Amino acid sequence: MLAILCFFLGHWFLSLFFHSFFLHRFCSHKMYTTSKNWERAFYLTTWFVQGSSFLVPRAYGVMHRMHHTFSDTEQDPHSPHFFRDVYQMMQSTILIFRGFLTGKNLPDAQFTAEYLPVWDKLDRFGHHIITRLLFGAAYTAFYIYFAPNAWWFLLLPVHFLMGPIQGAIVNWCGHKYGYSNFENGDHSKNTSPWGILLMGELFQNNHHYAKNDANFAKKWFEFDLTYFIMRGLHAVRIIELTSKKRDTVRVSKAA
Ligand SMILES: [Zn+2]
Ligand SMILES: [Zn+2]
Repeated sequence: MLAILCFFLGHWFLSLFFHSFFLHRFCSHKMYTTSKNWERAFYLTTWFVQGSSFLVPRAYGVMHRMHHTFSDTEQDPHSPHFFRDVYQMMQSTILIFRGFLTGKNLPDAQFTAEYLPVWDKLDRFGHHIITRLLFGAAYTAFYIYFAPNAWWFLLLPVHFLMGPIQGAIVNWCGHKYGYSNFENGDHSKNTSPWGILLMGELFQNNHHYAKNDANFAKKWFEFDLTYFIMRGLHAVRIIELTSKKRDTVRVSKAA
């Protein structure tokens, strides 16, 4: 049982960290700079820890930039306010995501103007159905070997779809439930203490207020674990934080 719990939590948090640290804060927002070698190392690790549910960085970056520009309007690729349920929202998100990868949807130039990391060979390999199935087979084999009984197999779908599940929780809950510190003109919300389990990503209201600020926590009771780790990586010079605080006038909501 311990092996399964360690595997599940390890997969959850490693996948989430690289989702937040690399796909979100680097590919989409460029909150730090790093050397080409470290960029490749982060890219490779993101692929490996997301495994069967690898989200190709350039498609992720374009969609996420669209999300900020059109937050909670009809052009937002995944606003919970335009879908009946989370499943329908994710179906639509997957279609747009695939459209960018196949070239069927061409992104507006404003969403590709800023640097987007691309590693064509790894993208093709990681996105290939055989690679995804092999990862799925490896997760299943681990469970066959270590799970004390069949009930544990109910966790397997979470491993198969880890990246999209974490994205769906953030996009659905982060724009629907919780409190807001700032008036952003959208439905973005913060959730605490659950935000800690999502490593800072559920502070959507704070993040939409200052999208280039690497620290998503703004109040004393909010804690952004991903940012905390980023400060450590900055201190040992693996990355250099470049994020700017919001430079326009603060429109803090009365508490
Ligand atoms: Zn958002
Ligand atoms: Zn963002």
